[in-house]
Amino acid sequence: MKSNIYNSLVFEMACRQFDRAADILDMDTTLRERVKMPKRCLAVSCPIRMDDGSVIVYEGFRVQHHLSMGPTKGGLRFHPKVDLGEVAALSMWMSWKCALAGLPYGGAKGGISVDPYALSHSELERLARRYMQEMIPFVGPNVDIMAPDVGTNEQVMAWMMDTYSSYVGSNATAVVTGKPVSLGGSEGRKEATGFGVAYFAKSYLEDFGIKPSNATAVIQGFGNVGSEAAKALVNFGVKVIGISDVSGAYHNPKGIDVDQAIRYVAKNRTLEGWKGGERISNEALLELKCDILAPCALERVINETNAAKLQCRILAEGANGPTTNQADAVLTENDEIHVIPDIICNSGGVIVSYFEWVQDLQSTFWTREEVLNRLCKLLDRSKLELEAQRKKLNCSRREAALTLGIHRVAEAKRIRGLFP
Ligand code: NAD
Repeated sequence: MKSNIYNSLVFEMACRQFDRAADILDMDTTLRERVKMPKRCLAVSCPIRMDDGSVIVYEGFRVQHHLSMGPTKGGLRFHPKVDLGEVAALSMWMSWKCALAGLPYGGAKGGISVDPYALSHSELERLARRYMQEMIPFVGPNVDIMAPDVGTNEQVMAWMMDTYSSYVGSNATAVVTGKPVSLGGSEGRKEATGFGVAYFAKSYLEDFGIKPSNATAVIQGFGNVGSEAAKALVNFGVKVIGISDVSGAYHNPKGIDVDQAIRYVAKNRTLEGWKGGERISNEALLELKCDILAPCALERVINETNAAKLQCRILAEGANGPTTNQADAVLTENDEIHVIPDIICNSGGVIVSYFEWVQDLQSTFWTREEVLNRLCKLLDRSKLELEAQRKKLNCSRREAALTLGIHRVAEAKRIRGLFP
C-alpha cells in the first residue's frame, strides 16, 4: 500500500526496514499492512502571539502508530525540518523499540516545524502550551504519553503537563515523561538515553575483547543524548576524541574534557567558538578512526557517501534512523564494523520514561540507583534476546532487533483481531 499521507524519505526508509523484517518473518500478507501503517494522526495549526505583537501559525503533528498493546508513547520534536512523514517514521520505530524492550506501549511521535532557538523563552512557552491544548482530545495518561526529543526538554514537558492538568482540573503528571524531578519526573530520566547508548557500547567492546580504558569514541550531536553518552563513556574509562553539534565538529586525540564542553554548551547553547579541540568538518568527524562512533543527532547522516569510509569498530546509534538503508547494506558487508541499531541502542530513554509513568501512576518514587539498576537489567535482557535472535535467524543485528519488535506487535494484532 502506498501512503497518500506520509510522504518523506524517512518514512520510506522505515517502511523498507519493515518490509525486510516482515519478509524474514514470512509475515502473513493480511497482517503486513496493518502492522506497518500508522493507525492515526492529527495535524494541527498552532497560532501564537509573538513578542512583537504579530501572530504566527505553526504546523504541529502527532502520529500514533498502533493501539494494540497499551497507550502510545513517544517524543515531541521541535525542528524546522519536521514533517508528517518523518513523524510517522519515528512513531514506527517507537513501536518496534517499545515491543523489543517489553514495554506495554504502541509507538507515537509528535513534532512542530519550528526552530525553537529562534523563539524567545515566552514565545516557546506559548507554542508548547498551544500545541498541548490542540492535542488534548488526542492524548492522556492512558491514551498517549509524550516525552522530550530534538529541540524539546524538561521545561517544555513541564509546560505541557501544566496545560493538560489545568484542562482536566487535577495534576496529571503521567501525561508526559521527561519532566523535571520536582514535578513528578524520574531520577535518571535525563541521562537515561545517553547512558543506555554508552552501556551497550561498553558491553559490546567487552564482548570483542577491547578494554574500555583502551578505547576511543566519537560522538555526533551534543544535545541531551550525545552529551550524556559522552559523560557515561568517560565514566566507563573510554577516551572521547571527537564531538560535534549543528555549529561544527571538534577533534582532540588526547581526549576531550566532556564536562567542560557540557558547561560551555549550557552557557553558549552550541559548541560554536569552543576551544577544547581542533575544528574539523562535520563530515570528517564521522570518518575519524575510533572504536565507538555514536551518531546522536538526526536521521540519514550515515549514507551512501560515507558508509564505506567509516573507521569505527562499533556504530552505536543514539539517534533514530541515522543510517540509510543503502548505508546499512554497505555496513552489513563489513565484518570490521558492528552496528548497535537505534531501536535497541537508544531504548534506555523510553525504558526510564516507562519507569517515570509507572511511578507517577502509583505516586511512589524510586532512587536514582534503583532506576539505573532496573534500566541495566532491561538493557541486558534486550541484548541477550537480540543476540539469540541474530543467531537463530543468521541475520544482522538490525534485522534481529526489527524482527523481534515487529513480531511482538504482529502477534498482539493477530490475537486481538481487526479493530485495534
Ligand atoms: P537535542 O535537541 O537535545 O540534541 C540534538 C543535537 O544534535 C544538538 O547538539 C544539535 O546541535 C545536534 N545536531 C543537529 N544537526 C546536526 C548536524 N547536522 N551535525 C551535527 N550535530 C547536529 O536532541 P536529543 O534529545 O539529544 O536527540 C538526539 C537524537 O536522539 C534524535 O534522533 C532523537 O530522536 C534521539 N532520541 C532521543 C531520546 C531522548 O530521550 N531525548 C530518546 C531516544 C532517541
